[in-house]
Amino acid sequence: MKLFFPDTVYVNPKALNYECGLKAVEYLKNHNINIINSRSVSINEKSFIENYDKSKKTVFLTINSQKKLPSCKPSANYQFSLSSSCPGKCEYCYLQTTQGEKPYIKIFVNIEDILKVIQEHINKHLPDITTFECASITDPVALDHITGNLKRCIEFFSNSDHGRLRLVTKFDNVDSFLNIDHKRHTTFRFSLNSEYVINNFEKNTSSLKNRILAAKKVANSGYPIGFIIAPIMIYPNWKKEYKNLIENLSVAFKDYKDKISFELIQHRFTSTAKELILNRFPNTLLDLNEDKRQLKWGPYGKFKYIYTKDDSEEIKTYMSDLINKNFKNAVIEYFT
Ligand code: SF4
Repeated sequence: MKLFFPDTVYVNPKALNYECGLKAVEYLKNHNINIINSRSVSINEKSFIENYDKSKKTVFLTINSQKKLPSCKPSANYQFSLSSSCPGKCEYCYLQTTQGEKPYIKIFVNIEDILKVIQEHINKHLPDITTFECASITDPVALDHITGNLKRCIEFFSNSDHGRLRLVTKFDNVDSFLNIDHKRHTTFRFSLNSEYVINNFEKNTSSLKNRILAAKKVANSGYPIGFIIAPIMIYPNWKKEYKNLIENLSVAFKDYKDKISFELIQHRFTSTAKELILNRFPNTLLDLNEDKRQLKWGPYGKFKYIYTKDDSEEIKTYMSDLINKNFKNAVIEYFT
């Protein structure tokens, strides 16, 4: 996929205290991007939709002052962020709830501080291994050409005896990671879905075919790999389409003998997310009918609508059987 370049970049003066910030500004200037020095981002378009569109083309180069990392169950011990939001426009994105009406993209340049905080969290758990997720609120692969900080993280974890990194992406720009001596300390996962879900709801992301090609490249470079199938949706023909997905994937990875992890996540939404989604995508085909769902209390203090117990069971059984039938080396880590 073509590399993402924003229309406008706001630069927090604090970002210029870091070599990474200076280099990123230089790089963006060389690509003729409009640079504004400012402590804050100003987006005030005429409508909700225009604010969203403009936000997704706006970057704020700034710093991450987080000292205490949040936990990241069930996929890792902790999560940290090299950026927040992303160039993708997935209609269902769960960040609709947390990043509000103007989800402009923040890119954090103080990588030395971020790595120091990670090391402190590793030290707290010695001699155990501590795992970190870096894609909870962003897609770090989509933005790494601007700073190279994901590459730097992979190198950091490569040299760490007790820290392990996990990331997930919907983008195929993986070439810069292929020659890193990663020592298998970073697990690369690709977020996949049926053609229907990708084509209707995952705008501005790499195609299914290109994600699978990127996953093969990463696997051939020796990284542990995995797939997150999410959000799994029920719609007419869903079984056939997910069957195609898993069968095509098993053909692509027929010669790959190492473990492949699978994480399965059913579609869910909160009332706040529903309101934002309908404002942003008035013609969305997403099924947001609460009557067909049941409520579940979420970790962020909000109720979410998940599929009913019977539907959840059906998704779980159907997807698990498909994966186990097509992959001898699959480990299904969880269904949620
Ligand atoms: S790529 Fe991921 S983070 Fe970006 S909009 Fe899509 S779901 Fe959200």
